[in-house]
Parts: sequence; structure tokens; C-alpha cells
Amino acid sequence: MKAELKRVLIQVRGVVQGVGFRPSMFRLATGLGLCGRVWNDSSGVYIDVEGPPGNVDALVAGIPSNAPPLSVIDQIRVEERPPEGFKTFEITASEQSGGAGTLISPDVATCDDCLDELSDRANRRFRYPFINCTNCGPRYTIIAGLPYDRPATTMSRFRMCPACEAEYRDPLDRRFHAQPNACWSCGPRCELLDNQGQFVPGEDPIARAAALLAGGRIVAVKGLGGFHLAVDARNEEAVRLLRQRKRRDETPFALMAAGIETIRRQTCLTDDEAVILRTPQRPIVLLEKAPGGDLAPGIAPGNRYLGMMLPYTPLHHLLFQESGLDCLVMTSGNFSEEPIITDNRTAVEILSGIADYFLLHNRDILVRNDDSICLAYRDRVFLQRRSRGFAPAPVRMARSYPRVLAVGAELKNTFALGRGEYVFLSQHIGDMENYEVFSSFEQTIRHLEALLEIRPELLAHDLHPEYLTTKYALSRRAELPVFGVQHHHAHIASCLVDNQFYDEAIGLALDGTGYGTDGRIWGGEVLTATLTDFARRYHFENVLMPGGERAIKEPWRMAVSYLHQAYGAAFTDLPLPFVRNLAGQNLDLLLKMIDRRLNSPETSSLGRLFDGLAALSGLRQKVSFEGQAAMEFQMCLDESAAGSYELAFGDGRIVVADLIRAVVGDLLAGQTPGAVSARFHRGLVSVFLKICEQLRDERGLGAVALSGGVFQNRWLLDHLHRALEDKGFRVLTHHLVPANDGGIALGQLAVAAERYLNGWEE
Ligand code: ZN
Ligand code: ZN
Ligand code: FE
Repeated sequence: MKAELKRVLIQVRGVVQGVGFRPSMFRLATGLGLCGRVWNDSSGVYIDVEGPPGNVDALVAGIPSNAPPLSVIDQIRVEERPPEGFKTFEITASEQSGGAGTLISPDVATCDDCLDELSDRANRRFRYPFINCTNCGPRYTIIAGLPYDRPATTMSRFRMCPACEAEYRDPLDRRFHAQPNACWSCGPRCELLDNQGQFVPGEDPIARAAALLAGGRIVAVKGLGGFHLAVDARNEEAVRLLRQRKRRDETPFALMAAGIETIRRQTCLTDDEAVILRTPQRPIVLLEKAPGGDLAPGIAPGNRYLGMMLPYTPLHHLLFQESGLDCLVMTSGNFSEEPIITDNRTAVEILSGIADYFLLHNRDILVRNDDSICLAYRDRVFLQRRSRGFAPAPVRMARSYPRVLAVGAELKNTFALGRGEYVFLSQHIGDMENYEVFSSFEQTIRHLEALLEIRPELLAHDLHPEYLTTKYALSRRAELPVFGVQHHHAHIASCLVDNQFYDEAIGLALDGTGYGTDGRIWGGEVLTATLTDFARRYHFENVLMPGGERAIKEPWRMAVSYLHQAYGAAFTDLPLPFVRNLAGQNLDLLLKMIDRRLNSPETSSLGRLFDGLAALSGLRQKVSFEGQAAMEFQMCLDESAAGSYELAFGDGRIVVADLIRAVVGDLLAGQTPGAVSARFHRGLVSVFLKICEQLRDERGLGAVALSGGVFQNRWLLDHLHRALEDKGFRVLTHHLVPANDGGIALGQLAVAAERYLNGWEE
């Protein structure tokens, strides 16, 4: 009698391509003695399998536990089919299909198995700088289209040698269908150029580049998502030269260390931070400098933190092995404010004024992708820049959304594309201040729309009429409905989604700049909000920003404005060092601007208040990057100074003038900036706590979302978080989406989609 057969067609969706999913299903099926086939299409992986019913059921049940480590399963659908009489189990070629649904894997740091082979003399890939397998290597940065197969990647021009081909075809090999698979005889190669673009002859370009680094030279190194500029982090002169040539006044440089031990010596590394440093995403982690650190002081001047990461490509590992160095500056290869460079020709053209040499290779970077930056907050990642390793992994939504493109904000731009239950956040695009960044924005939108097969049905943008992103969205208005979303509402919505919280919450949206519904610049906002709508409950008292944008670059202007608001013109009689030092500035002109309200927009920004207090305390009068003064004001905080400023609130406003008078009183009494900072920080915690308690009493809201760039301030984040928890609030803080404007797009998208689904008009 013929044994009973069962046949099922299984569809698996999620991150299931480029991660070794089909081979693991092959092993599972053949291990159970089943026949059939497995293949990719653009919506996921299909398994068509038949055999004894018990074994077929065991396969279905065993999919999650047998899935490869890098995969993320979102959905498994099983359909029974009439038996077909398969004789074997095979992995068959990919099929194109309509309904897109496959998720693209982010790039993954070199795995331990590949590292072992890299340093194994007997291995045919000994010291091969592009070693990879299904568990590691480039993904998003080399994928041109789906399904994810070699012809759809920048590896298509490298024809595999017989040895690589055999691995690629062997379902039991770690490199089965590893699309970037390559070796010394068939794959990409490195070469070294000087800064005239001349080829530097020699057997071993990596060893040569390593020696140049050890000798204090600046080498541009082609990486996974773009070029880095590398120098020895212990060589003060080299670091100084790099800073000078890159025209980066004081922005901290990122570091790459050979191993965790180096990081432990240079920083006060915690166990949580060590775990995050070693994750396959390999982000830059902001770590507190250790007292005994001995790296060049020019790396992060005036900063208590170092941004450090571990090597994430084979080439990085080889550079450390060959050079004997244990720490390199690895700052992105560009001039300040321009996008990171990805192609060889542009690199040599643009960076020849900075780099002495170029370590290039011939595997093209299709997608620009900067290093991600995070800190460890309460044992989890707190992303400040979401890029390599994280993009384009999606955020899962609570309900199915239409196809939306949210264009994000102006600074630290990212955009978001949503479809169904997924929202895909782009990699970091940058500050939309010049043509290069804007064209990278447009290009990345086109690429991701095509790759994910998302043709937007509606657009979301910031309300600021001057943002290039707003203008871009409005330029597509003829095709699509367009929703403007208020900046701080978007911040809070992004925090709610980041926490999978879909009720109404109190939102503290604290940042530098965001366009308000009244046309003023907001930034110190207490909202009550849902994903659909919000109300502004409290905000910091408005103050003028004399000179507009210039007041951001020159915090002393803000200090003058706050003093003028608190004391009127008589503030010039205050015997403060700050006032005395104004003699060199063009004070009369500034006061005229204030009096006549010329080019002096009103703002409720907490970021500007931080800036103003930093200037008033004598810490910093001008900044070379946004938030620098605020950051230094936080870092000088002297925990041992007792006391707190009382911030009054009422009638929708948090009063600032009284605070300024209290600060001036302290400074006149000889208090240090550190004491002023401590009292101000404590004052903020206490006023926000009181306001939240009042809103809870009035409206029954028990959750508070903390968002906006000000929450990069760890002291405020941590102390406010604890104070709110002590009073029984549920506190929502950011995690996989930045609190700064890099997270805005997700919030815009959620708000626009909810409004659209609820029938709102544009
Ligand atoms: Zn590997
Ligand atoms: Zn090969
Ligand atoms: Fe913002």
C-alpha cells in the first residue's frame, strides 16, 4: 500500500534573503526525508514540500528554530496542496513576482568563522580583504534590485572561479548562495594610489597602506558604505593635520579600535556598552573617556566622550594586523557638511587635498551609508544616527498603512517609506544645506522606492516652508496628496511608534528648532498627543533670536536676548564678565535688531536657552557645530553644587525671565558655570515633573514620551526618566529611532497615515 503523502506550500516573509535562509530550509527538509523545492521571489521565500504528514508538520513547526541567525521572520503562511510526487529536494532559481514584501538585510560585520579563515595560512582566503559568507558581509550597500541574487548586486562583474562556484552551489556550505562570495583568484582587489591619483606599485597594497598609517600619513580607505579618512589616533600631529585639512574645527572624530581591550583602556566601558560594540551592526558607541586615556587630545576637544567602534570589514582587521596600531581615527571621507564619498574617481578628485594616499578597491558601493552612532542607555541601544547596520531594517506598525513617503526634516535628514505594516527608514542622508546632500536625498528616495517597490500614495513633510524637504514634497503635489506635519508632533509620534505605544501620551518635545503652527520657532514644548493629533499645553516663554540663523551659530546673541528680556536695556549695567566682554561685539546693532524686531524671529526653543546660558556663564560664545554650547554646558555640570532654580509655569507658559535673573544673581555671587548648570538641570526636571503631574490630574494621561535633540543630554534624559518613574509615570524613551531630527520621518509618516485613514483632508 502506498504511504500517505502530504504537500504544503509555505510562504515565509521577513528578512529572509541574503541571510542563508534557503540552505537552512534545505537542511531541515532533507533531514526529515522530504522532497520538493525552495526558492526566493521578491515577496519572500517559498517552500513547496511533500512527504509523510508527520514530517511535513515537523518541518512547518521547525522553521523558526532552524532559521539562520541573521534572519527575521515576520510571517509564515501555509497552504495545503495536492501531492505532486517530487523525487528530490532542490533549491531553485529565484522568481520575479509582483507583490513586494521581502525585507533587505542591512550590512553585517565580518563573522567569527570568516575571521578565523582570514588568519589561517592554510585557508585559500588567507588575508583576503573581501572574505564573507551567508552570515556576514555587504548587503544593502551592494543591492541594486530584488530578488537578491548576484546579478542584482555590484558583484555581478566578478565571475566566480570553480572553487567559489562549488561553495555557492553546495547547500551545505556556509557560502551557499552567498551573493558577494569571492576569493583571491576571482574577486575584488585592493590598490593603493597616491594623492596625484598615481598607482603605487607593490605586491601588497594593504600592508603598504598600514605602514603609511603607522608612519603618520593620512590614508583614505574605501569601506562598506563610503570612504573613511584614517590616521593613527596616537599621532597628535597627524590628527591636527587631518582636522586642518578637513576644515573641521572642533567636531569630534570617530575612532576604530583593534579590539575591545583598547577601548577598555581609553574609556570607562560598561558591560552593556561592550555588548553593543560587538553586535553585528557595529555602531559607533559614545563612551566616557577614561582618566588615563592617552590618545591624541585633538580627537574630541572639550568632549567628555569618545565615539568608538570595532572593525567591521576584513580590510579593517587586516589594516590593524599589518600596522600594529591599536586605534585609528576613522572619520567619514568628505568635507564637512557634504555627503560621504563612495566612488573611487570622486574620492581621488575631492579628497586629494586631505588624504596622502588612497586604499581603493573595485567592488562598487551602490548605496551610500555612514556609520551609525549610538549610546547605551539603560542596557539598550539609544541611536543618534541610524545608518549602516540598521538601515533599511523596518519598523513594524500596529496596523496596515497605505504607501507613504515621509521626507523628514532639514538637519540630520532621513526619510521613511511605508507600506502595509512596515516602515523603512532610510540611512542618514545629512544636513540639507547644499546641493550635494539634496541630490543624495532625491537619489536615495528613487533607489529605495524602486528597490522596495513602493510607489507612494501620499506624502508627509515638515511645516517649515523653507526646508528643501518641504519644497521637494510640494513639488510632487500634482501627483499625490501631501500632509504637513508639525515638527514636534512628529518627534513625539516617532517616540510613540519606537515604543509600540498607540494611546494618547504627554509629550516633552525639546530641541533646537521646529516650525510651529503659529509660524514661530518652537522647541520647548509640552504636548498631549496621539498619532493623529496633538495639543500644545505648555511651552517656554518666547524670546527673540537676533539675527535668525546666526543666533544659532553665535550663542552670545541669545544670551543678550535673554538678558534684554529680563532686564530691559539696563542689562548693560550688570557687572558680569559676559556683559563686559560684549565690548568687542557689535552690541548696538544687535540691540537695534531686538528693539525693532528686525530679522529676529521669536522662539520657545529649549536648545537656544541652553546655548544662551552657556554663553552667559562664559563657557562659549560661538559654536562650530549645532548643539556644541548646550553640550558643553551639560558637561560642566557640577553635581556637588546644591540647589535648583525654580521655574514658574502657568497660562500655557514656562517663565524664563525669572530664571535668567536667578542665574545672573548666582554668577554675580561668584558661582561657577558648573553650579549654574546643575541648578538649571535640576530646575528643568522639577518643572517638567510638576507639569506632567498636573496634566495627569487634568486629563488622566499616565505616559510621557521624551523626544527631540535635547534628549541627547544624558543627564537630563536619565534624571527626568527616573523622576517621572518615581511618580508612577510610564516613560517612553527612544531606542532604534533617533530622538533628534534623524527620527522625524517616522513620526511624520505615522501622523500622515493615521490622518489619511481617518479621512482627514490635507
Ligand atoms: Zn562570515
Ligand atoms: Zn573564487
Ligand atoms: Fe527637532
